[in-house]
Amino acid sequence: MNVTDTRESTAARVNLLDFDHAALTEWCASIGEKPFRATQLSRWLHRHVECDFDKMTNLAKVFRAKLKDLAEVRSPQPIAEKKSADGTRKWLFDVGNGNAVESVFIPEDDRGTLCISTQAGCAMGCLFCSTGKQGFNRNLSTSEIVGQLWYAERELRQDRGVTDPNDRIISNVVLMGMGEPLQNLDNVIPALRLFLDDNGYGLSRRRVTVSTSGLVRQIDKLAEAAPVALAVSLHAGNDELRDRLMPVNRKHPLKDLMAACRRYLDVAPRDFITFEYVMLGGINDSLADADELVELVRRERVPCKFNLIPFNPFTESDLKKPDREAVLAFCRRLNDAGIVTTVRKTRGDDIDAACGQLAGEVKDRTRRAERLREQKAEAAVYFQKKQN
Ligand code: SAH
Ligand code: SF4
Repeated sequence: MNVTDTRESTAARVNLLDFDHAALTEWCASIGEKPFRATQLSRWLHRHVECDFDKMTNLAKVFRAKLKDLAEVRSPQPIAEKKSADGTRKWLFDVGNGNAVESVFIPEDDRGTLCISTQAGCAMGCLFCSTGKQGFNRNLSTSEIVGQLWYAERELRQDRGVTDPNDRIISNVVLMGMGEPLQNLDNVIPALRLFLDDNGYGLSRRRVTVSTSGLVRQIDKLAEAAPVALAVSLHAGNDELRDRLMPVNRKHPLKDLMAACRRYLDVAPRDFITFEYVMLGGINDSLADADELVELVRRERVPCKFNLIPFNPFTESDLKKPDREAVLAFCRRLNDAGIVTTVRKTRGDDIDAACGQLAGEVKDRTRRAERLREQKAEAAVYFQKKQN
């Protein structure tokens, strides 16, 4: 199966998945092509999820020849893929130098959500996070971010036999995979623009969510450049506990974060902020903790919803899952106080689908390189089987 441009990559060729519409138009102009050509090309790339220039039949032959010469369509390549019994799919993408990032597709009755990564590793060092434990490797490029969506949509369509470019399987995108999206705004903003662009993926701003650990100035930048739905990882209702769980809080304490949330609401596509709250057994899961959250959001006047995420344990952490009863009681307490609260369903449990989980299994570089080799071998067998 030709899943991406199969020609040898050369440094001279530009990767078209790196361009938002403005950049694509500019690049087309630089090779003597009119703006409407960029629009046509963009529709082939992102609506038809096509990478074969010969199939882009409404493009002039001369333009196609230039494309073959100068450009390529290169998404990151998966080294492992898992399918859960509940329809959840997960890809582990190779991003070079022994680094891999994950994307997870979660099908539901009325939508299909893709969770994508923005960095290889993460520098924020949150105590409960498997990605954080790996440390920071590097920012993903725009094409590596867009390529996760491009690849997943293409793969899912092929599996389901969907050919109509208007029939999209992925209706929602959440930047909740590995990494802190707001630490990679240079590459995340063009990717978001492509997700929203009518000639790109055409998603509404309400269906694209950026999740952040709480980088205050960057929340303002996002508001200016691409105001999509915002999720903020809160995890504590007071600075003392949040300082311990999330080092970012020492720089941007709750008061500043809440003020940034209020400012964001002026431009947000929804009239509330989603607060994510990882529930850690015996640490932040008591009813007193719930009451403190209610008090915080009332005092700070931030209209919000809460999404409770029961902690997902991993090898290097001795933090504990909360009891089921504690989660339900916590959820009830917030709902009773008038704050819409949901508990994140565990999906794809059989494939470690929580973001950061699969890559997090392989922590140090040597073990990771070893594991990557194994996964490449597994993937080769998988693709061979698929082709036969
Ligand atoms: N860096 C961004 C987005 C990626 S993390 C952020 O922190 O918001 C996405 C979500 O997964 C965050 O809310 C994060 O707190 C949560 N998370 C991280 N590790 C987890 C774990 N082990 N169990 C449950 N949720 C976790
Ligand atoms: Fe980074 Fe988010 Fe993990 Fe914190 S929770 S270490 S910000 S990926």
